[in-house]
Amino acid sequence: MTVAPFESFADACPTGMLAVVGLFGLALGSFLNVVIARVPAGRSLVRPGSACPGCSAPLTWYDNIPVLSFVMLRGRCRSCGMRISWRYPVVETVTAAVLVSAYAAFGPSADFLVACVLLPALVALTAIDLDHQMIPDAITLPGILVGLVINLASRRISWLDSVLGILLGGGLFLVIILVSRGGMGGGDLKLGAMLGAFLGWKALLVALFVAIVLGGALGAVLLATGRRGRKDPIPFGPFLAAGGAMALFWGERVFVWWMGGFGG
Ligand SMILES: [Zn+2]
Repeated sequence: MTVAPFESFADACPTGMLAVVGLFGLALGSFLNVVIARVPAGRSLVRPGSACPGCSAPLTWYDNIPVLSFVMLRGRCRSCGMRISWRYPVVETVTAAVLVSAYAAFGPSADFLVACVLLPALVALTAIDLDHQMIPDAITLPGILVGLVINLASRRISWLDSVLGILLGGGLFLVIILVSRGGMGGGDLKLGAMLGAFLGWKALLVALFVAIVLGGALGAVLLATGRRGRKDPIPFGPFLAAGGAMALFWGERVFVWWMGGFGG
């Protein structure tokens, strides 16, 4: 293998770069755990530092290492022994996994930059929606703007594609909300608009399609097995997030395939 002197680390050592991305993902996942715990309560992300919810003992840096601390402490607080939720290491692992997958798929590119912003936001929104049945404006509203600006700056997709995505994502959910009267909420609408901003309208349609299929399938299973009644709400945010993530990886290709199918 020949390595030009000015070639970047990414080119020179792809495996090393994947490891760097993975470590970055773990650290980012650790921050997302703070976001998930604090944003719904409207608390500061910076102060105070992390503490055990049981005994309020502040966490030292060595109790705060992603995944590793959880394993070393066997999932319990060092001071009071209270169980630490398995969600913490899961969020860290998932964040690292999606970023490593994105780097493997996109390499150092605008697509990867978008992935580094969109995918962690979707991980946080999923956990918050599962916990609180709400999708916080504090993430989706800035998300709409950030998605548009990233696409403007990187020209990954055209500004028009992104603006149409915002209008389509928001508009479709507005219609659903008006028709269904309470089936979906304003949070879903803003998340739809945010996905449209990042993905553009074509990949957004793929994201919505995936979300409806996944949500419908799980809803049918829960109904059939009697684990949820017909009236029980099932949060749609996690399905939108899953659809959005899949559309980031494969959306444009699926859309082209759809068009080919309809055209030919
Ligand atoms: Zn404790």
